[in-house]
Amino acid sequence: MHKLAIYLAATAALAFTGSAGAQGYPERSITMVVPFAAGGPTDTVTRLVAESMSKDLGQQIIVENVGGAGGTLGASQVAKADPDGYTLLLHHIGMATSATLYRKLPYDTLNAFEYVGLVTDVPMTIVAKKDFEPTDLKGLIEYVKANADKVSLANAGIGAASHLCGMLFMSEIKTPLVTVPYKGTGPAMTDLLGGQVDLMCDQTTNTTKQIKGGTIKAYAVTSPKRLDALPDLPTVAEGGLPGMQVGIWHGIYAPKGTPAEVTQKLSASLQKALKDPNVVARFAELGTVPSSEAEATPEGLKSRLESEVTRWKPVIEAAGQYAD
Ligand code: ASP
Repeated sequence: MHKLAIYLAATAALAFTGSAGAQGYPERSITMVVPFAAGGPTDTVTRLVAESMSKDLGQQIIVENVGGAGGTLGASQVAKADPDGYTLLLHHIGMATSATLYRKLPYDTLNAFEYVGLVTDVPMTIVAKKDFEPTDLKGLIEYVKANADKVSLANAGIGAASHLCGMLFMSEIKTPLVTVPYKGTGPAMTDLLGGQVDLMCDQTTNTTKQIKGGTIKAYAVTSPKRLDALPDLPTVAEGGLPGMQVGIWHGIYAPKGTPAEVTQKLSASLQKALKDPNVVARFAELGTVPSSEAEATPEGLKSRLESEVTRWKPVIEAAGQYAD
């Protein structure tokens, strides 16, 4: 056969496989990687959304926790996976910050993935072990400045939301603290509850229940306004740290080359999940806001990721915290 004919036949075969795969998709279970430990905020969001999407897609979405290195291990695993729609990633703002925080990443943040859509926006809370001495944010700042070498601050590694928020806290009060990295803030919360670590800045998804139950102490929320779920908790601006305002967003990604029909189908299913009454009710209880229909699209996530890489680059460079 002529070379061109062979090439055309091969391309046609590939195109056929791609679209046939997308048409029947999904034909088997899908793995959704959470790049943090089980029991943490990203895990909680993922399991809620995955359960609803599984029902809609008629196939099980299995959640796999691949914690470590601030979310970059899990992201790397998905970047290398087959682009067939059967391996997905649910990651947060760390996808954007790790692009600057890591001098070398095993994947190219803006070119290694296809986009499914934004999932949710979640504020952070500054929390401490139950018997931590300071009673409000002002008192916390004074105490931490006077006892910097004794105060331990938990995070989920460089690139985690807890790392970003802790970094903002330390740079706002101009006081470095001893940081303790975990594979996720699920296990970090266990240590905070047990009093093995003093402080943490973590998403409301992981802290609301404990704050309401009085098992940990809370000082402030990083949103511009107080939350309906925690109306007594002041904002960071009310407490004198306006530079700590930060919102954590989550998105679903697929490896580069995943057919557009597949990401569109997943995006439509995500949009339905975000209107599922069970998801809506649980998100409200946890103080997290589901993304709008327009945001829960490939374009919505792409534009958020790109603008957030640009937004955090100078902040991280000014803080001078990098991982090799
Ligand atoms: N999202 C992480 C987790 O689920 C924690 C973090 O980013 O701080 O554990």
